[in-house]
Amino acid sequence: MPRKAQVFLTFDVEDPVTPASDDAVVWLADLLREKGVSAAFFVTGDKARALVGRRRLDVIEALRGHDIGYHTNHHSTHPTVAEYLESYGWADGVAEVVRRERSGADLIRDLSGQQLCGFATAGTSWGPQVPGALADLNIPAHVHSFSRTGGSHNPHWYAGALCFARSEAIGPVEDDLQDPARFADLIGRLPQIIRRAARSQDRVLHLYIGHPTIFVNQEFWDGLNYASGRNPEPGTDLAAPPPRSSASTRTMLNNLAQLVDAVRAVPEAEFVALSDLVASRRTTPAFPQGWFATALSEAAGPDIRTTSRLLSPAQLLYTLCRAIQGEDVDRAGPGGEVLGPVEHPEPAEQADHPTWLDDKQLRKVAESVCRTVAATGALPTLARTDGIAVPVATLYGSLLDLVTRRPVDTLSSLPGRMPLSARTELPPIADEISEHYARRVRRWMHRPDLNVTELTRLTRAQTWSLRAAVAA
Ligand SMILES: [Zn+2]
Repeated sequence: MPRKAQVFLTFDVEDPVTPASDDAVVWLADLLREKGVSAAFFVTGDKARALVGRRRLDVIEALRGHDIGYHTNHHSTHPTVAEYLESYGWADGVAEVVRRERSGADLIRDLSGQQLCGFATAGTSWGPQVPGALADLNIPAHVHSFSRTGGSHNPHWYAGALCFARSEAIGPVEDDLQDPARFADLIGRLPQIIRRAARSQDRVLHLYIGHPTIFVNQEFWDGLNYASGRNPEPGTDLAAPPPRSSASTRTMLNNLAQLVDAVRAVPEAEFVALSDLVASRRTTPAFPQGWFATALSEAAGPDIRTTSRLLSPAQLLYTLCRAIQGEDVDRAGPGGEVLGPVEHPEPAEQADHPTWLDDKQLRKVAESVCRTVAATGALPTLARTDGIAVPVATLYGSLLDLVTRRPVDTLSSLPGRMPLSARTELPPIADEISEHYARRVRRWMHRPDLNVTELTRLTRAQTWSLRAAVAA
């Protein structure tokens, strides 16, 4: 048996304007069911309300046997996700996501009678508080996340949620289905894409098919109505996009059917339902005897690693601090997810700290980390003791330097003094994630003057919570 890539298909179902886009969902759901493929359809709250208003609950019925996910309450309507998170920090931002999204998620759950398989980012509107809010929304995974591990681990844990990186998805394939040359090219490349995924550690291949609306319309419904940060005048009808010819719709559907056959023809491919894939990756890794030493040896090195399958950097720092407190962490286990720092750093405080800590100071600093994690679920920005404030990256680097020089089981008996390393930085992937975020989020679906400074900072800080997901 060849090692197989686990291929899953997703759609974003969001057009509340054109009734024809309701039919497109039914055609796609039926076509894939006949092909024996269970896809994931991410539905917006507004689309669900439009289906109720148009008496089209048969569309939800047609999704039986497929996964149903959530695609925000109002998608491109202002304020979009990044717009409503603009002025929030962490905890209030998470609460705001829950407050604004709960009614849509509950409606789709109620209409379908199904648990939601995941939350798919709407367009380019995202904030790290979205994965942060998913546990409260009872949604088990996040698709099209702006997070990534840098080691192409997909899915991964970030900000407490199982996330599938947007950058790892192939598609939207809808652009290729319309164009004979592009479609031929995709079919030609497919075996290679699948084999590469099959050889990768994670074996996951996300085929993002796109939007049912594009199977019946030539343009998106939202670009026409919500550009430049403005909503349509209240009381006016939304503009409808120009329809696609029925011949073109047929071509796209036929090509999708061919695409499914082409995937099946590659021995290294198997279709999986996203809900099954999520269930298989939401497992807790095994922590056999000696796991702490293994985690430390994984983490040792010049950079803070984010691709461990055992612990995120935040969990490892927390575990180190607990070990310093005298806890038998090998026996106790690592505990749950730990967020990166969520509080606003005070730049003045970060500027100076001593070049070493004595054992009493180190114990107190470690205690302050444990206290903050216990109270907030997140690392502090600065680990403090009387008059001393050490950036957590400095503490983390110094502790890793210390434990690589001495056996792990002696952490409770500390040396007289521990030099503090000069390291004050996050994992290198933090730059990549935050730059990618700041660049991607500046697109048409936001107010041109959207300020993403705080969102970018929080996105960066959650790099501490990154961990590769484990296959069961
Ligand atoms: Zn969308």
